[in-house]
Amino acid sequence: MNLSIVVPCYNEEEVLPETAKRLTGLLGRLQHSGKISENSKIYFVDDGSKDRTWEVIEALSETYPAVHGLKLSRNRGHQNALLGGLFTAEGDALVSIDADLQDDIDAIEEMVDAYHEGYDIVYGVRKARTTDTPFKRATAEGFYKLMHLMGVDIVFNHADFRLMSRRAVEELKQYPEVNLFLRAMVPLIGYPSTQVYYDRAERFAGESKYPLKKMLAFAWDGITSFSVVPLRLITATGFIIFIASILISLWAVGIKLFTDDAVPGWASTVLPIYFIGGIQVFSIGIVGEYIGKMYLETKRRPRFIIEKSV
Ligand code: UDP
Ligand code: MG
Repeated sequence: MNLSIVVPCYNEEEVLPETAKRLTGLLGRLQHSGKISENSKIYFVDDGSKDRTWEVIEALSETYPAVHGLKLSRNRGHQNALLGGLFTAEGDALVSIDADLQDDIDAIEEMVDAYHEGYDIVYGVRKARTTDTPFKRATAEGFYKLMHLMGVDIVFNHADFRLMSRRAVEELKQYPEVNLFLRAMVPLIGYPSTQVYYDRAERFAGESKYPLKKMLAFAWDGITSFSVVPLRLITATGFIIFIASILISLWAVGIKLFTDDAVPGWASTVLPIYFIGGIQVFSIGIVGEYIGKMYLETKRRPRFIIEKSV
């Protein structure tokens, strides 16, 4: 089995030599035990780095025969760099992993074992987030729960450390969407999948390339690319306000008929605000529902993938 490891790199000159050393070491061990073939490769994808990342990749490709490099014309973001690598790399199975050695590369051996057992997709799942700050841990885990509530099929505590078989990658090519959120797209493919668990380490060197702003944008992309629940919430809010306006009307009629406390002009001023407000918000929700449908249509995702036929 011919393995390819795809590594997106943005301003990673400090970590790349160590990453290349460890990954080529790993390839050597796996080749030695006969689990992967001799021409397995590592692809470093330079995502338009501003530092010397590309020069480092070029030098590494001369040192190690297994190392290859792809250079994107400009910075397109982690997900696009990863996809570029997956769609360009050869190999019967492709593993994606970050450049910073936070993900335990030894888990790759378990992924390869799972591939040999017949799994097409193997998700790397973090055991504990002990190396994350409490803030990062709370926001990340909250995000996975929120996605779940919104009906998105996503693997808890799995980022972009995974193995995909050749046929799974070929099916991924049928998802032509531009707003990429790979960890929710891959489960859509189907095919037999399993998980391996690992401990996440600290970044080996350098700083996170995902500042809070990018992270929030990414999370928002994930929700809006996969869920129409936010639109449904608008419809529901409008409906609740509308129902409330009817209840308030009944209450106002009761006050008028059975007490002497009725304030002249109150009902005619306040009720239309709630009534019309509710109808407006409800209508926006309905319009949103159609926009959501159009949005999903424009993605042109495959409607089915046949796994086997006899
Ligand atoms: N990355 C990338 N393009 C970007 C930002 C990040 O290719 O615009 C890569 C980065 O080099 C690393 C991976 O994405 O290999 C994950 O980034 P990072 O480790 O900084 O994120 P964190 O682990 O802090 O969430
Ligand atoms: Mg990292």
